[in-house]
Amino acid sequence: MNKPQSWEARAEAATLYGFTDLPTIHDRGTVVLTHGEGPYVVDVHGRRYLDANSGLWNMVAGFDHPGLTQAAQEAYARFPGYHAFFGRMSDQTVMLSEKLVEVSPFDRGRVFYTNSGSEANDTMVKMLWFLAGAEGKPQRRKILTRKNAYHGVTAVSASMTGKPYNEVFGLPLDGFLHLTCPHYWREGLPGESEDEFVARLAAELEDVIAREGADTIAGFFAEPVMGAGGVIPAPVGYFQAVQKVLKKHGIPLISDEVICGFGRTGAVWGCESYGFVPDAIISSKCLTAGFFPMGAVILGPELADRVQAASEAIEEFPHGFTASGHPVGCAIALKAIEVILEEGLIERVRELTPMFEAGMARIGEMSNIGEVRGRGLMGALEAVADKAGKVPFDGSLSVSERIANACTDEGLICRPLGQSIVLCPPFIMTEGQMEEMFGKLEGALGKVFAEVA
Ligand SMILES: *Cc1c(COP(=O)(O)O)cnc(C)c1O
Repeated sequence: MNKPQSWEARAEAATLYGFTDLPTIHDRGTVVLTHGEGPYVVDVHGRRYLDANSGLWNMVAGFDHPGLTQAAQEAYARFPGYHAFFGRMSDQTVMLSEKLVEVSPFDRGRVFYTNSGSEANDTMVKMLWFLAGAEGKPQRRKILTRKNAYHGVTAVSASMTGKPYNEVFGLPLDGFLHLTCPHYWREGLPGESEDEFVARLAAELEDVIAREGADTIAGFFAEPVMGAGGVIPAPVGYFQAVQKVLKKHGIPLISDEVICGFGRTGAVWGCESYGFVPDAIISSKCLTAGFFPMGAVILGPELADRVQAASEAIEEFPHGFTASGHPVGCAIALKAIEVILEEGLIERVRELTPMFEAGMARIGEMSNIGEVRGRGLMGALEAVADKAGKVPFDGSLSVSERIANACTDEGLICRPLGQSIVLCPPFIMTEGQMEEMFGKLEGALGKVFAEVA
């Protein structure tokens, strides 16, 4: 058999695709990329695309940040790999843990490293289960999340994820409960104010705790702004209402900051933007500005003390990944934190946000955009067949895929999600590039709505 010749054919022949619409691939081929320049990526044919999704939310400093590539090169030259088991760890790991606690909302805490956000959520659940056993409450194992939440793809983090596609794996596992998605536009009842909506969700949480028994629940996990659920910012007062209920029952609130952490919402953490302090933070994605696969669990003081005490009792915490606390990843994360927090990238998010919001609002005036939502530099535009009735397009039209494909044709990458289009530009974008992004998106939307509406 002849070997396929084109990059596109070779990609399709030997790679199993994840989270990819296969009809689109068969129809249009894979975009095979060679490198990036600032917020652009370049394919094997030399075509340039403005990546309005920062890769996968994470490449916030662009695709060729010189400080980060240099930090990576130096770290590789110095100490290209080590673990964090058996009482050994790299100096970079020590420094990163100190830094993460310093920039966290906690006055003290402890950090545990993973290779991804999924593993960090998985690790956090194992820590809660570990505590349940160690503290004599072995039944305290249930995990609460919300419908539409995205917490990852491992068996546990996929069980936490509130997406229907996990049914194909026979997930969720038992004991993973999904509460109402805090999306007022979609879930609010006719005539219900946003405050009443929040009160209803807090009451639902009370009811679930009463039904299941508070002493069977290990923790509540939430993204401050739901990302892969379609960029859904929590309503005002939501976290305060939820945290009040959780505190009353001694249930930890874990903030999944994999997307929000390190600047996306205009503050270091999403919980800061929403004015609450969780019991622990899950970080990944922007932690290394996408330059290294890494995740971290950052425990606040109380959970840190409890996990430490439970570990002391059996002389170890029996958990860890080969590459946990990798010296190169830690060196890159230290540099990424410096770039984001000390070299002005977070200020840049705040500077760009009004322009981003204005561009989104302008597009929101189109008759087939039902809702514009977001926070900081993350936003979504929800396509609808009928604006007043909030009626979605017929699923068979694949409207958001069509929009994303039309964008690709224009040299713009943005992501279809349900019936919405997600924008989460890199923090280094210039005003001119932001204009380019909205200009191309408007062109693509006009084309697709003319076809389907
Ligand atoms: C991406 C994401 C994860 C999973 O991270 P991976 O590195 O893909 O495993 C978890 N939580 C949230 C909020 C995410 O956006």
